[in-house]
Amino acid sequence: MDAGAVLSVNMLQRSRMGESMASEIHELYDVIVIGSGAAGAMAALRAAELGLSVVIVEKAHKFGGTSATSGGVLWVPNHQLAQNSDSREQALQYLDAVVSGPIQRERLEAFVDQGPQMVRFMKSLGIALASTPWPDYYPGAPAARADRSLVCPTFDGRELGEKFTLLREQYTRFKLLNRYSMDLGEFFTLSARGKGWKRALARILWGYWSDRSTRAFTRRDRRLTQGAALMGHLYKRLFDRGVQVHLERRLERLLVSGGRVSGVTVSYFGHPYDIHARHGVVVCAGGFEWNQELRERFLAVPGLTRYSSTPEDANRGEALLAGLAIGAATEHTDAGWWMPTMHMPMPAASNFEEIHQAAFDVGRPHSVCVNRTGRRFVDEACGYDDFGKGMVADQQKTGANCPCWLVFDSRFRSSFAAGGFMPAAVMPDRVIPREWWDHYIFKADTLQALAAKIQVPAEALTATVASMNEYARTGRDPEFGRGGNDYDKFFGDPTCKPNPSLGAIESAPFYAVPINLGDLGTKGGLKADAFARVLDARGEPIPALYAAGNASGCPFGNCYPGAGGTIGPALTFGFIAANDIAARAGRQPQPRREGTALAV
Ligand SMILES: Cc1cc2nc3c(=O)[nH]c(=O)nc-3n(C[C@H](O)[C@H](O)[C@H](O)COP(=O)(O)OP(=O)(O)OC[C@H]3O[C@@H](n4cnc5c(N)ncnc54)[C@H](O)[C@@H]3O)c2cc1C
Repeated sequence: MDAGAVLSVNMLQRSRMGESMASEIHELYDVIVIGSGAAGAMAALRAAELGLSVVIVEKAHKFGGTSATSGGVLWVPNHQLAQNSDSREQALQYLDAVVSGPIQRERLEAFVDQGPQMVRFMKSLGIALASTPWPDYYPGAPAARADRSLVCPTFDGRELGEKFTLLREQYTRFKLLNRYSMDLGEFFTLSARGKGWKRALARILWGYWSDRSTRAFTRRDRRLTQGAALMGHLYKRLFDRGVQVHLERRLERLLVSGGRVSGVTVSYFGHPYDIHARHGVVVCAGGFEWNQELRERFLAVPGLTRYSSTPEDANRGEALLAGLAIGAATEHTDAGWWMPTMHMPMPAASNFEEIHQAAFDVGRPHSVCVNRTGRRFVDEACGYDDFGKGMVADQQKTGANCPCWLVFDSRFRSSFAAGGFMPAAVMPDRVIPREWWDHYIFKADTLQALAAKIQVPAEALTATVASMNEYARTGRDPEFGRGGNDYDKFFGDPTCKPNPSLGAIESAPFYAVPINLGDLGTKGGLKADAFARVLDARGEPIPALYAAGNASGCPFGNCYPGAGGTIGPALTFGFIAANDIAARAGRQPQPRREGTALAV
C-alpha cells in the first residue's frame, strides 16, 4: 500500500450483525482506478507519471484483464511512428466514411488527437511500439491504410519479479500446443504453414525448454507475447513507480459526497469497505459480456455469456450498474465487439470448453460459411466484427443463424488451422480425440453425408458449394465480394489463384464446425465525453467520475475500424482521463486549453 497516500488502514470493527467480523478499511488516494486492463493500466500509469497517488482496484485474483489475454494490437491512426505519412485529416476522413449511426463527434476527434500523444507517452517510457502492415477493416474506404495497427515487442515476464505469475495468463488456445507463447507473426506463419514455419517452431521450442531456471518454478512461458507483452510493459512501469494493484476487490458502488464522486465501496472476500478519492474515480471495469441479464436487456441478439471469449470471472457489468445507480447515462450498449467463436472441448480438463476464435479460419480458401438453411450470409473473409454483424442480421432475418457452420474440404484441413486444430500436416485427424468427432468437428466423405450429419438441407448446401466452386474458378464472388479487397486477401492464401480467398471445395473428406455469435467484450457502457468524463442523463459531467475502455461507450459507435480498435481507444481514453484529473488537480505543467485535452 502507498504509505503516503493512505490515511488510515485496518480499522477493524466488530459487526453488530451476528458473530462475523466486518472489516472497515479507510484508504485515500488522489485517483482510484477500477479494473486492471489496458484502460485502467494506462489511466493509472499516466496519473502516476503526473504525480498523483493512485491505486488500481481489481476484482479478479490476477491483474491484466481481458487485455492480457488479447492479441495486444492497438489501432491508433496518425500514430507518428517512423515513416508514417498518415494525418489527422486522413484519420477523420476514414472514420467519417466507416462510422455510421449517432456518435459524439468531439469524442471521435479526441481519440484522433490524443491517440498519437498516448503513443508518444508510451514511447517516452521506452515501450517500442511498432506498426504492422495490417489493413484497416474497410480497405476500400477513403483514406484507409495498412499501418495503423501497432504491437508491442515481446516482454520477459520475470521483469515483473514475483508478480509475474499474478499477471493474467493468455489462453492455452493462443499458445502453440497449449504451452508455448507465439507472437502474432509466429501465429500467422504457423497457422498457415507459411514460409519458415519449421524454423519458427524450432526457435519457440528451444527458447522454452532451454529456459531451465523458469522451468524450475512454473510451466508458464516467460516470453510474454501479444496482450500479455503489452500488459507486461505497462505493469513493469507501474510497479517501478510504486503503483499498487489491489486484487480480489470488487467495485460494489460509487460514493457521492459534496456533489461529486468521492470514492467507492468495494468488497474483499465478502467484506465491504470504502476507498476515497481526492480527485477522481476512473471506471475501467470492462463490459457486461458475462452478465446474461444485461445481455438480454441491451443486446439485439443476446447470445449466451459462454460464447464470449473474454475471461469468465471478470466483466459482469457491476460498474455499469453502479454508474446507473447514481444517474449516469449509457451509450452504444446494443452491440458486442463480435468475434465468431467455436467451443472446443478443453484438452486435459474434463467438462470444460475452450473458446476458439474463428476470426481467421473463416476467410481461408476451400471453405464456406452457411446458416442452418445451407445458405451464405456474409463475405466470410471480412473483419470478425462485421462477420458477427452478418450473423446478427441473418439471425434477425431467417432465425437460422447463431449457430451457423464453417464447411471446408481436405485441402483446407491440410493447410490451415480451424476450430482450434492446427493444419493436418502439424496435427493430423488421427490425433483428434475420437469422442470429438460428430460432436465438435464433423466429417464425411460427401457433402450430402456431411449435410445429413449437421442437419442442413443437402440440396441447399451442395448448391452453395457449387456456386463457391464457380467463384473460385473465376476469382469473383458476385454475392458478397469475398476476396475483393486488401483485408480479405491479407488473410487468404497467396498461392491460391486467381483469388487468394476463394478455393474450390471439392476434395473429400468434407468437414464442418459450428460457429457461435461470440464476442471480445461489449461495445457500450457509461456515456463519457471527449475528456472521458461520465455524463448524466442531461449530458452534464458527473463531477470526478471518468470511464474508459469497454466500461464506456465506444467512440466509433457500432464500428470496428481496424485491428486494435478496442485497445487503441481504451488506452487513449485512460490517458485522457488521467490528464483531465491532473489538470483539475493542478498537477499538469501546461495550462488546459478550452475544448482540448492536454498534450503530453
Ligand atoms: C482473445 C482476445 C483477443 C483480443 N485481441 C485484441 C486485439 O488484439 N486488439 C484489440 O483492440 N482488442 C482485442 N481484444 C479485445 C480487447 O481485449 C478488449 O476489448 C480490451 O482488452 C478491453 O480493455 P478494458 O481495459 O476495457 O477491459 P479489460 O481488459 O477486460 O479489463 C477490465 C478489468 O476490470 C475488472 N473488473 C470488472 N468488474 C470489476 C469490478 N466490479 N470491480 C473491480 N474490477 C472489475 C476485470 O476483472 C478486468 O480485469 C481481444 C479480446 C480477446 C478475448
